[in-house]
Amino acid sequence: MMGPSHALSGAAVWLTGSWALDQFADYHQSPLALAVGTAVCAGGALFPDLDLSGKVTRNQGGATVARTFGVVSLFVAEVMEKISLGVYYATKLSKDPRRNNGHRTLTHTIPFTVLVGWGTTALCAAYGKWAVVGILFFMFGLALRGLFDRWAERAGWVIVTLASAAAAWFTFANLPGDRGYPLIGLAVGVGCFVHILGDMITRAGVPILWPIPIKRRMWTMVGLPNSIALRTGSKTEVVVLRGVLTAISVLAAVGLVAPSVLRKFNIEI
Ligand SMILES: [Zn+2]
Repeated sequence: MMGPSHALSGAAVWLTGSWALDQFADYHQSPLALAVGTAVCAGGALFPDLDLSGKVTRNQGGATVARTFGVVSLFVAEVMEKISLGVYYATKLSKDPRRNNGHRTLTHTIPFTVLVGWGTTALCAAYGKWAVVGILFFMFGLALRGLFDRWAERAGWVIVTLASAAAAWFTFANLPGDRGYPLIGLAVGVGCFVHILGDMITRAGVPILWPIPIKRRMWTMVGLPNSIALRTGSKTEVVVLRGVLTAISVLAAVGLVAPSVLRKFNIEI
């Protein structure tokens, strides 16, 4: 799947989940909290592809993510790819093939998802608002890249970086400061998980079972069979999948926001 589809699926899942909690569990979020959670989940849904270093062809989604913050994120991607490859070789069994690139290995596993979610939560708990502003800055950048890919491409990484900084600062200034922010860690973790699921419907698959050894393989790639797998960049992905995800996001957002807007105008539903 390409970057924008990943980001959209993160946003759609977060909005739908929030709508369900609002409807059935009486758990309400402020519009700001909702917007922040959605952006962070959309950014988190791109995070696992930060294991694609800049050498790949420009059309592939991962390279988009790696260019979010210019050379800085390109460097991070390079490091992440090398660490992933290191972990691959450190844990590989006899039937696992050799590889010379770490893409779609460590960052596409469930332990990684849990670690990232937990790490984000721990950072927010330890450093409060300052951790939040840093994480938001990073995640907003990824979300902008993913959700507004054409704009981001035209604007370039400097504008994307400035826009993320502004969004992070605005949130920082308006967020109540007297508590932890467990939802941010959850949004990052959910985003990563949604990314893995998205890659699972493609042909190459992901090592979702790692580290469970199966038939002398630690890195069993799980994906759909060729005949029904989603082809990256195909019409099905760009038109159908993104159309459905956008519709779900809009419906959930309207469902969440409309009642309070109507109430403001004294209309009860
Ligand atoms: Zn991926």
